[in-house]
Amino acid sequence: MAKKKTLTNNFGAPVADDQNSLTAGNPGPVLMQDVHLLEKLAHFDRERIPERVVHAKGAGAYGYFEVTKDVTKWTKARFLSKVGKKTDLFIRFSTVGGEKGSADAERDPRGFAIKFYTEEGNYDMVGNNTPVFFIRDPLKFADFIHTQKRNPATNCKDPDMFWDFLSLTPESIHQVTILFSDRGTPATYRNMHGYSSHTYKWYNEKGQYFWVKYHFKSEQGIQNLTRENAEIMKGKDPDHATRDLYNAIERGDYPSWKLEMQIMNPQDAESYRFDPFDVTKVWPHGDYPPITIGRMVLNRNPENYFAEVEQAAFSPGNFVPGIGPSLDKMLQGRLFSYHDTHRHRLGPNYHLIPVNSAKGCPMHNYQRDGFLRVDKNGGGGPNYYPNSFGGPEPNPKTGEPPFEVSGKAARQKYTHPNDDFVQPGALYKKVMSDMDREHLTGNIVSHLGGAQKRIQLRQTALFYKADPEYGTRVAKGLKLDVNEVKRLADMSHEARAKATEE
Ligand code: NDP
Repeated sequence: MAKKKTLTNNFGAPVADDQNSLTAGNPGPVLMQDVHLLEKLAHFDRERIPERVVHAKGAGAYGYFEVTKDVTKWTKARFLSKVGKKTDLFIRFSTVGGEKGSADAERDPRGFAIKFYTEEGNYDMVGNNTPVFFIRDPLKFADFIHTQKRNPATNCKDPDMFWDFLSLTPESIHQVTILFSDRGTPATYRNMHGYSSHTYKWYNEKGQYFWVKYHFKSEQGIQNLTRENAEIMKGKDPDHATRDLYNAIERGDYPSWKLEMQIMNPQDAESYRFDPFDVTKVWPHGDYPPITIGRMVLNRNPENYFAEVEQAAFSPGNFVPGIGPSLDKMLQGRLFSYHDTHRHRLGPNYHLIPVNSAKGCPMHNYQRDGFLRVDKNGGGGPNYYPNSFGGPEPNPKTGEPPFEVSGKAARQKYTHPNDDFVQPGALYKKVMSDMDREHLTGNIVSHLGGAQKRIQLRQTALFYKADPEYGTRVAKGLKLDVNEVKRLADMSHEARAKATEE
């Protein structure tokens, strides 16, 4: 057996006794000079860091991405530059609304955040298991999340808050339809797809750019829990998806996803029949067929959950040359919010935490100091730019090509016509099977049934607008008057909101 190490305090000095506090007499009192006890208690008192306000419960793994198709005509990103090229990555899956100890089987979108450790810096693709989102403007985000969390008075989840906001936000209907299908309760993290949801920009060596969407398709196949099974799982094993991911990797059953891209020419974006940057819409596959360009494999578990998963910090603002943001307003809001929340949660030097630090290339800049600056902090080199002491220089060749914008600075809606109901209608009518529709409407009835009747009516009118059969089925499940639902569905949004006020 290997010789055991001597227990030390945080500064490396040996500890003689870790079971008995230092006391004056027996049993005590305990002496203030027991610095070992004080250090132990003080550190314990500070063990918790702020929980992520969203995506608090998660699981992570390491793996790699391999390019399987030449994409150099669309992007100059070096990690995508050659078929067969592999890049290390870290992924974190999560639920969204629940706290750190909440159940993995909750009905919720699942986070799907990947950090690629590329030779040009870290590139993060921070997506979900749904191709769309509830809202299309970041100004609504905080309000939306409040409604998915706890009632300020009761501290309980509240179907009135949940459905009041959604029914007053018709753009949410597409995501609500996906969330309340059985895809809202994936069987495991391995059995779901991951989508960028947002549109991003790829640009090539010639400075030409393209709008793109990422779809990571599970090679394990889609598997979901029914509502009944999810309820059982929440009680039986609240960590079932976390455990499943860890155990699969431990036994060498490495989960994998193929990466499909949808790619749009910028000229098409201007004349497309809806706004391609609106995150409540997908690009139909018929218009933009997915192109398989690579494969992701997860093959290593973290050794320490807190160090590697809890402290993992992703941002959709972490780009590398060849990839940039689109005009999607929700994405633009996230570009700020992710770095901001990590600075709050982990401090300004969170990029130095090993799971977050650049691995494929060194980091050089003039940012200095701050809490927990644990690297050499730039040593004796210059801490300002420009300088004549040989400090790092910007490289103009790595910049994004210029991009034309015009128009008025104002608070404006998306400019293309936005019909919020066509795509959820197509999902219900054309994509779902009879069983999918039965489960969807059953899942909605069971949740929406907890809200006040006027809110049930307002929300059911939105289902009716997506597809009359969809709305009728939900109305019958809730024992609502179908004619009343139809009357509300025919009203303008403003009139419907007024007619269903308290
Ligand atoms: P397609 O028939 O080409 O594709 C339908 C897609 O829907 C497939 O990707 C399928 O996933 C996915 N799907 C099936 N059931 C569900 C569900 N319960 N929740 C979410 N996705 C589901 O159709 P279109 O591209 O013309 O789109 C039709 C509708 O399909 C859209 O309005 C949208 O609601 C939905 N959809 C479209 C996607 C897209 O990017 N075009 C992506 C996902 C959904 P799978 O690949 O596992 O078969």
